[in-house]
Amino acid sequence: DELGEAQLGTVISRFGQHADVEADNGEIFRCNMRRSIGSLICGDKVLWRQGKATEHSISGVIEAVHERESVLSRPDVYDGVKPIAANISQILIVSSVLPAFNADIIDRYLVAAEETDIKPVIVLNKTDLFDDENQDEIEQQLDIYRAIGYQIIYVSNKTQAGIDELKQQLKANTSVFVGQSGVGKSTLTNSLMPELGVITQEVSENSGLGQHTTTVARLYHFEQGGDLIDSPGIREFGLWHLTPEQVCNGFIEFEDFLGLCKFRDCKHQTDPGCALIAAVEDKKIHPKRLASFQRILASLNENTLTTRFND
Ligand code: GDP
Ligand code: ZN
Repeated sequence: DELGEAQLGTVISRFGQHADVEADNGEIFRCNMRRSIGSLICGDKVLWRQGKATEHSISGVIEAVHERESVLSRPDVYDGVKPIAANISQILIVSSVLPAFNADIIDRYLVAAEETDIKPVIVLNKTDLFDDENQDEIEQQLDIYRAIGYQIIYVSNKTQAGIDELKQQLKANTSVFVGQSGVGKSTLTNSLMPELGVITQEVSENSGLGQHTTTVARLYHFEQGGDLIDSPGIREFGLWHLTPEQVCNGFIEFEDFLGLCKFRDCKHQTDPGCALIAAVEDKKIHPKRLASFQRILASLNENTLTTRFND
């Protein structure tokens, strides 16, 4: 067949047997995949060749996929985990002044992020809603995360305070926004990406393959540089069931202490000789982080807890 030269591209969306590949010049080509390619997901870097457009607007073939630098997966009933996006370089955990800042939820997202090895960044939105009561409390809570080494960005989409700093952070990165509903993820995305709606419409119009664009992960470009990968599935990131092991690994400042408890099956609640409780007394672990850790562990399925810690 009449195929062009092999070139590099990025999978911006993957559905059925096809994928939309963005060429270096920004043009988008709907491609088939060679059988030899295993799985392919949004964000994959690929080698592909342009061909003649067919009746389904297929105009290219993907021949090879680069090794992934990172993978965001979600639990899957059949496969254990299902990869949904590749080569994400940072997870922006969005929180807000209202709905009220909730450290337990941030901790759950951090645990899930640490599991992926992708860098998490905490974004506090709606700082325009700060008042004398909530500001000190939220800043003190966020200082705990800063002390652990996490990056914090304060923004208000309403007043645009901090938005330049956020734009800098998005540049040269492929990001996902995660966080509770109502914290302002959509509002932020739309204001950073005025053309978002247009791209979505364009793709579903010429596809003839249904409304796939609304459910699968899709890669977008921010106006000021950097990429976003977004989908309903990605927005649910971090809300899945966690294992006790994941929770232990996800509180990164606990690492040095976890093996030091007196009892191998220490539940780190009120157990004698618990090294985490001792570390709090020595001011090496913040009491709020230990309390949140204990609440998350206690909220997990009791059976999982017992089996995971005794085997
Ligand atoms: P999402 O569920 O995380 O996508 O949240 P939305 O983007 O839908 O925002 C939820 C609500 O918060 C909407 O009514 C927004 O207008 C509002 N909102 C978003 N950003 C800000 C902000 O910076 N300040 C204030 N006061 N409201 C905001
Ligand atoms: Zn312990």
